[in-house]
Amino acid sequence: MPDEMIIRFWGVRGSYPVPGPRTMRFGGNTACVEVQAGAHTIILDAGTGIINLGGELLRRARADGNRPVIATILFSHMHNDHTVGFPFFDPAYLGNTTLFIFGPKVFESDLEETLAHSMLPPSFPVGLDELASRKILRNVNETDVVLMGSSPTDVQVMNLYHDKVDPSPDLVRVRTYHSYAHPKNGVNIYNISWRGKTVVYATDTEGYVESDRRLVQFANGADVLIHDAQYRAEDYILPAKPKQGWGHSTPVMAIAVAQAAKVKRLVLFHHEPQYNDETIAEMEAEAQKNFPTTVSAYEGLELRI
Ligand SMILES: [Zn+2]
Ligand SMILES: [Zn+2]
Repeated sequence: MPDEMIIRFWGVRGSYPVPGPRTMRFGGNTACVEVQAGAHTIILDAGTGIINLGGELLRRARADGNRPVIATILFSHMHNDHTVGFPFFDPAYLGNTTLFIFGPKVFESDLEETLAHSMLPPSFPVGLDELASRKILRNVNETDVVLMGSSPTDVQVMNLYHDKVDPSPDLVRVRTYHSYAHPKNGVNIYNISWRGKTVVYATDTEGYVESDRRLVQFANGADVLIHDAQYRAEDYILPAKPKQGWGHSTPVMAIAVAQAAKVKRLVLFHHEPQYNDETIAEMEAEAQKNFPTTVSAYEGLELRI
């Protein structure tokens, strides 16, 4: 259906990858979510999940008359678990690929600089500028809106205050909310809307008490809210190792935002790597008692809205 927005999960884990028999059901790759909206492929974060997505995008392109891969990558922030898959994203090595790459400025460093830094020798043998693909890199912040038109290469960043922003619902629209509830320079939370459908990606954010009112407003009425839910409530307050201030939430915090923002569906995301499948399934079942449309993200989960 051309009018559907499709959301696919390729990596759902926080902090570091954990492949193995304990994580078969939910998956062990770190953060990466694909959103298909109209002509556009949007990739949220480049954790290790992006490696399998890269292979899939190339397969789809080959099956579609060998067309080039054109995609937009949105980084929430530049922590390792969200960037580590990028150097292994195969389409980036092909000369006919076009990548629009957006994300936050970190302190005084532009996105291009922080991404290049993540693959500098001797940590990695190929530099960002050596990748053959065409790359358009830019910082995005709260005053920007990314607008995507009818062709896959029609992607522009506009300033909400200075530019005349076309309000047409046929354009894919990405807005940013920069939350400081994550160390040390916060995180970009993204709201992607198209033809009246909305998905909000709020990873690596901490709810504290009574939730973040700005996030509630930003996610208001979304069809899908993808929210950090790394810790069980009992581990969050564990006296020997309290997690407050670490920049992650509990399912209770995610539900508080989902309820206050009246979202239709909540996806628990950025699972604690130490938790096995049973623990995450228990967290999901517990969350469903208070917010029935909750699902714990797993690799291969596909939502259509
Ligand atoms: Zn993370
Ligand atoms: Zn982080």
